[in-house]
Amino acid sequence: MTVTVRVPAKVNVQLGVGGLRADGFHDLANVFFAVALGDEVTAGPGTAGVTLSCEGPDAGQVPLDDSNLAARAARLLAAHHGLAEPAVHLHIRKAIPVAGGMAGGSADAAAALLACDALWGLDTPAATLHDLAAELGSDVPFALLGGVALGRGRGELLEPLPVTGSYHWVFAVADGGLSTPAVFRECDRLREEAGLGATDTDIPTPDASPALLAALTTGDPKALAETLTNDLQPAALSLRPALAATLAAGTAAGAVGALVSGSGPTCAFLTDSAEAAAALAAALEASGTCRTAHPTYGPVPGAAVLPG
Ligand code: ATP
Repeated sequence: MTVTVRVPAKVNVQLGVGGLRADGFHDLANVFFAVALGDEVTAGPGTAGVTLSCEGPDAGQVPLDDSNLAARAARLLAAHHGLAEPAVHLHIRKAIPVAGGMAGGSADAAAALLACDALWGLDTPAATLHDLAAELGSDVPFALLGGVALGRGRGELLEPLPVTGSYHWVFAVADGGLSTPAVFRECDRLREEAGLGATDTDIPTPDASPALLAALTTGDPKALAETLTNDLQPAALSLRPALAATLAAGTAAGAVGALVSGSGPTCAFLTDSAEAAAALAAALEASGTCRTAHPTYGPVPGAAVLPG
């Protein structure tokens, strides 16, 4: 028997970053938005321990050792239930760009939690799965939840948000990834350089944008586009100046909104129809400012077991 879970990637339609806290983290006001571009994780019987395989264009960049977040999720779930050394094989079909600012590793962790839970017949309550997910990483609980949600704290305190309609996105994938911690460090450095200070006494705790929350209920991509913000964007652009050309190419080709996705380097573009998204993806690829571009849509539900 095998169990396959499909899990969405996320884009942050708002990423508000507070000052650096004494514990090294930043308070965030993070509006996560789940998109149909996603991975699939299949859990099946293994021989010993947790083994991994991965397929997809970026499979070579995915670690297949104990550091893989999907493997860590399987081991954490087993330990939580007092299961001795689990024997499970996890196969990841990877479509989410690796180190792209779309929480691909976190998505695979959420998928592995659900897949192993079903494979092992554990029936873990949703609240417990959420807690285990938060232990694995601040973006993992949202991959379980899906839809659109406000994340506070480090991102793990989640509140589902009302949203109307479906929005058509294009994600332009860059060559090579960006390290999320490095982008946060660059954000702090740029704030220092601008004389703002970088600590939580210098920078106010961010709040969800009322204009964004209102725009999400209009179903109007132009209204949403006007309220998109990402406090990490200047840092991602500073580390990867070529992204400015990607954003400009998407805007010139008719995107109604453009921003860096999370810590980047993937760039996200809003369009006003599925046809416009397909045309924009083709134009972005032709522009030579990205490696590939994927049209997709959202919001979509969180990680779910596929029938069969
Ligand atoms: P985030 O948006 O949450 O900051 P990201 O999308 O930028 O994350 P990931 O794709 O999650 O980045 O990968 C970050 C690093 O995590 C990779 O470079 C890789 O070494 C490691 N990693 C661990 N497990 C996985 C996984 N299942 N898939 C992809 N990367 C993984």
